[in-house]
Amino acid sequence: MTWLVAETSEHTAHTVPLDDLIVHELAQACVCGPQPVPVARGDGSVCWLLSHHSLDGRERREVS
Ligand SMILES: [Zn+2]
Repeated sequence: MTWLVAETSEHTAHTVPLDDLIVHELAQACVCGPQPVPVARGDGSVCWLLSHHSLDGRERREVS
């Protein structure tokens, strides 16, 4: 299970499943409906992390 972490701007990053059934857009408008979550960084600033959802259900298999 491979995930890509991509920064699309200074304050926005995406985690995107690689080799998924669809091609994800690095945008909140992606068809999988990623929701931005605020993440505090070490320097005290906050960035937005958009966790994309894989359409092959790999998250469910990773849950123990
Ligand atoms: Zn997506």
